[in-house]
Amino acid sequence: MNKLVVFCEHQSHNLKRSSIELLQFGRSKNFHVVGVVLGSEGSAAAEQATANGAHEVLWFDDAKLNGYNPELFLTALEVGIKQSDARHVLAPASSIGRDVFPRLAARLDSSVASDCVALSVDDNAFVAKKPMYSGKCFAQVSLKDSPYQIVLMRANQLPVAAAGSSNAGAIKKAALPDVSLKTILKEVVKGASEKLDLTEANIIVSGGRGLKEAGNFKMLEDMANVLGATVGASRAVVDSGWVSHSMQVGQTGKTVAPTLYIAVGISGAIQHLAGMTGSKVIVAINNDPNAPIFQKATYGIVGDLFDVVPKLTEEFKKLLHK
Ligand SMILES: Cc1cc2nc3c(=O)[nH]c(=O)nc-3n(C[C@H](O)[C@H](O)[C@H](O)COP(=O)(O)OP(=O)(O)OC[C@H]3O[C@@H](n4cnc5c(N)ncnc54)[C@H](O)[C@@H]3O)c2cc1C
Repeated sequence: MNKLVVFCEHQSHNLKRSSIELLQFGRSKNFHVVGVVLGSEGSAAAEQATANGAHEVLWFDDAKLNGYNPELFLTALEVGIKQSDARHVLAPASSIGRDVFPRLAARLDSSVASDCVALSVDDNAFVAKKPMYSGKCFAQVSLKDSPYQIVLMRANQLPVAAAGSSNAGAIKKAALPDVSLKTILKEVVKGASEKLDLTEANIIVSGGRGLKEAGNFKMLEDMANVLGATVGASRAVVDSGWVSHSMQVGQTGKTVAPTLYIAVGISGAIQHLAGMTGSKVIVAINNDPNAPIFQKATYGIVGDLFDVVPKLTEEFKKLLHK
């Protein structure tokens, strides 16, 4: 059985859905799946990894790995991969994944396919699909000639089944070697929102310049609260200082792939579409019937958002919180 390492990213003590997708994918393709969990706060995530497909977990139970330091993460992941003797590696295409795995690939003299949206295994080689030119076309990438095959997958691209029972016995502790650091993490400043990050969210309500002013984002927050959604934004409103850059969806913001994306007062410029066309269902609310967003929308509502959004929120409330 070929071995596969999956980077088990966790947040607030829980394994991220993006890592669960990868663990279950590995199991379904008959790999011997080794989860690598970093940080002394990873105990619950390690257990969740065993319940979601990992045959074994290497847990670096070290407080130095609780915040992201690229040099420490790089070292721990390299140790984890070499210790498990795996040649296949999967990780979420998250901010951390996209930062650390290209470094790791360079260190392992290997190829990496990042930001992938589909994955299969052919003759022991990963074959991944990745968008290019802001999603205008896709490349099919095979890594078969690389010593290690490293693929970074966007979240919400692979199915997830219910977890089984955890097997704490499969968790082995691993030690972080000494690293002489060039970078020191002094402080992590967390965003104000406790909501799921946009890249992990299953439902996103996103607002654009059609909202007219920052205060009107409250309407979207109300809808998001009812739906259990995360609020996103176009770059126009981020540049206007209405909301923080961490909420921006698009080419120079985040790439998202929720089940439901509700675009409110967003025209649908190519740079915005680049970040959200992987959404399964897109609902657009815009008073201009010719807005380009309608070409990508599954459902379109032509109307004044100040009318439509409160009414929809009321209807969602009735449906979901009877
Ligand atoms: C290099 C580069 C990178 C970029 N990266 C990004 C990126 O990452 N993300 C991104 O979003 N943009 C990005 N942009 C900017 C992008 O080109 C657009 O300018 C931006 O997406 C427009 O934002 P918007 O749709 O909110 O605003 P607008 O284009 O002004 O659209 C507002 C929409 O609201 C509608 N509207 C107005 N009033 C109402 C109402 N009362 N009810 C209903 N609808 C209403 C209008 O009909 C219009 O369609 C980038 C641009 C460049 C050049």
